[in-house]
Amino acid sequence: MDFNKLCPAMPKVELHAHLNGSLSRSTLLELKRFNADTGVTDTSDAFLDEFQIGAGDTRNLSDCFQVFNIAHRLTRTPGSLALATTLTLKEFQDDGCCYIELRSTPKETPFMTSRQYIETVSETLRSNAHLPIKSRLIVSINRNSSIKEAEAISELTISCYKQYPDVIVGIELSGDPNIGQFEDFVPSLTKARCAGLKITLHCGEVCNPKEVLEMLRFRPDRIGHGVCIHPNFGGTQETWDALCKFQIPVEICLTSNVNTKSTLDYNSHHFKELYNANIPVIICTDDKGVFSTSLSQEYRICADVFGLQPPQLAKLASNAVDYVFADEEKKSIKEKILNFINKNGLECMS
Ligand SMILES: [Zn+2]
Repeated sequence: MDFNKLCPAMPKVELHAHLNGSLSRSTLLELKRFNADTGVTDTSDAFLDEFQIGAGDTRNLSDCFQVFNIAHRLTRTPGSLALATTLTLKEFQDDGCCYIELRSTPKETPFMTSRQYIETVSETLRSNAHLPIKSRLIVSINRNSSIKEAEAISELTISCYKQYPDVIVGIELSGDPNIGQFEDFVPSLTKARCAGLKITLHCGEVCNPKEVLEMLRFRPDRIGHGVCIHPNFGGTQETWDALCKFQIPVEICLTSNVNTKSTLDYNSHHFKELYNANIPVIICTDDKGVFSTSLSQEYRICADVFGLQPPQLAKLASNAVDYVFADEEKKSIKEKILNFINKNGLECMS
């Protein structure tokens, strides 16, 4: 089986996908129609062409964060947010994804409060629980939040978690890595962790060994990206040793890192160092809409660039299940992937 057939057909889990960054062009257009039909004006017309970031894009990492505002303008009402969630869920399902943890920062708009934002996404995921794709929500804290705002989101998430224990699984820290400092968010994250929520952190997107070390020592359940941890990529021996010691699973987003120039190109991506050192890795998309990618495309790129054979790629998909936040779903997802592996003779011999 060649990778073009294998990657979409193989059941996969997606553990790092921002809702607004995942909106495809067709979803953005559908949202525009929906908003027009419901009488909500939006000013996104001129900006749709700026939504995608390709390889060699001249915008820097901070500029890249601006594109999310385009999606935010289209998801300001509960109706449009619910539609965006449903369409995105189905796109992942069509791509062979059998479990997804969507993440999003609750946003207050003229049409809804932050609580209504979380409730809308949670209700939508719950109402789609009958689909083959199983879904959960991770609530994001943006690094440009004040300490007070972060605490409010943490408390809101804990409260919503009690309302939607079948949907909300975790809390995460994201946003422009050049803004804010991790230590300010530790109290909010700790509170969420004590309430039973899992933690994932965008970690090491830019060179900042001091912060990377603080993050790793916080012992999150997973980290995103982990670019600048190995000494060859702007980390230090100390940051690398900490990751190896704690074995914190890393959500790998190949195209995102290349297109935002966090990584020079696919060949020099730190996936290789992590994989060779047996650090748990999970292939993810980050923002499939912004980077014009899909989860199966990321698997295919990974196999092509790093010379993985089909059984090794299938093993990556199967291992990823060990790091999902919804423990109650692990068994059935694992079975689904292992059945696929058995049926297609993809067992790893080594
Ligand atoms: Zn991300």
